[in-house]
Amino acid sequence: MKRFVITMVCMLCFGMMSYGQWHEPKRVTQKFFPDPDVEIDVPAFRKNSGYTSYKEMTRFIEDLVDKYPELLHNEIVGETQKGRSIPLVTVRKGDDVNKIRLFYFARIHGDEPAGTESLLFLIKQLVEKPELQYLLDKVSFYIMPMVNVDGAQAFGRYTANRIDLNRDQSKLQTPEAKMLHQVVNRIVPHVSVDFHEYQPVRADFRKLSSDVLATPWDVMFLYSGNPNVPQVLRDAVDNIFIPAAEEILDRHQLTHHPYYSSTSSLGQVSLPVGGTSPRSTSNAMALKNTISLLMETRGIKLGATSLKRRTWAGYLLAETFAKTAYERESEIRSIIAKSIADETDIAVRFTAKTVSDVPLSFIDLTKNELVSIPVDMRLSAESKPTLVRPLPEAYYILPQAHEAVDVLRQMGVEVSELTHSETVEVEAFGVRTYRESASPVGGVYPVNVTTEQTIKRVEFPAGSFRVDMKQRNKRVATVLLEPESANGFVNYRVVDVNLGEEMPMYRKLKTKSINRKH
Ligand SMILES: [Zn+2]
Repeated sequence: MKRFVITMVCMLCFGMMSYGQWHEPKRVTQKFFPDPDVEIDVPAFRKNSGYTSYKEMTRFIEDLVDKYPELLHNEIVGETQKGRSIPLVTVRKGDDVNKIRLFYFARIHGDEPAGTESLLFLIKQLVEKPELQYLLDKVSFYIMPMVNVDGAQAFGRYTANRIDLNRDQSKLQTPEAKMLHQVVNRIVPHVSVDFHEYQPVRADFRKLSSDVLATPWDVMFLYSGNPNVPQVLRDAVDNIFIPAAEEILDRHQLTHHPYYSSTSSLGQVSLPVGGTSPRSTSNAMALKNTISLLMETRGIKLGATSLKRRTWAGYLLAETFAKTAYERESEIRSIIAKSIADETDIAVRFTAKTVSDVPLSFIDLTKNELVSIPVDMRLSAESKPTLVRPLPEAYYILPQAHEAVDVLRQMGVEVSELTHSETVEVEAFGVRTYRESASPVGGVYPVNVTTEQTIKRVEFPAGSFRVDMKQRNKRVATVLLEPESANGFVNYRVVDVNLGEEMPMYRKLKTKSINRKH
């Protein structure tokens, strides 16, 4: 009977989950997620409830800047759609030309508050803790504790125009996403870390067990699974940054796992592990030759439950990544140089490896204990390319596709404009099949195409565009311009194409590739 009542109570909580805040049973929090015995001096913990508000954050930063003007600087880098200023805080000692530049940002999603608290605490620790000052000899910090200020004020995921900022990194439909890339293009960070929170109870989990299941990890790591991110960068995350993070979390009895979400089709649940899409920051930043990670603490729909533990976990990660950057400074420089020089073929399409019946830990909220449930997983880190093309010498784009050029430039890709008409032998794409998705993303119905290619001479009029591949951000351009790319320009309808017609963008092949074809 008792079990039945508990189950019913949990089911009720679970039911509420999809409508608003979910209350984790107290005994679960007490058993698995006790608050750490540390003092975190940021506004959220100076009051009895809630999170640090935008106003409190602004005041907190200004007070610290007044106190430590030689180390701290606060700059407004843009405005939200509702006219709120978006701050970028730098913590650095003198000139940072020869330092490792770390870019930390949080609150891409307004309802994931812990990242803001973690980064505010980091700023304070960096200026106040003598034992951390050595970091500034080799490392400069660029910190945006609250990117989506409008979302944070409304405590909702989206920006004011209802766009998910972490699905807008290849389209830049929001001023906030444009601003984020402007900042990155200017800083050119060596390491970029985006602090998020994940939702521990998911509707899909109901199909895995008759009991109510919750994800148990304090932290999940999402790193770039897009195969167009040079291997050397992905290895740096796997072999340098993640092991350091795991070690510190283990030392503090905080649990961790590679990031997964869930999908279900015909009642069958599958957990995608990692992510490959250029529309999310972990890949978008990595495609710019930055060592890029995305952290998820256990927080969405939890309200302020465990907020101190979540904040502490995010802080420990931010501090550890900085220490790692300090210790591995010269190696990081050489990794990034290799990444920029990488000329590997483009993986236009790829599929994740699937594995079945992998035992995975969950908290059974009814029994208040860990259980192991077999799940199917799709491992994006082990994606296999299904359509590969060599890097071209350049892409040519007709004037009509100028919107694509605007986005490329905002992403930091150099695009030149032809002042005279130019006849070039190129690879042209004809649209062979065209399929529109049934559900919209950010207000548009994505398009999937297959193409056929022909080599031909095309006269490009003055005002056409050329994107040379001899540039730092070439991988951003290839991922967005190849017509079959998931979340690329054709898929997201930045460039409109029609069945049977030739596309307005072309590939100028390297001489070697042309010869191979003949
Ligand atoms: Zn998020």
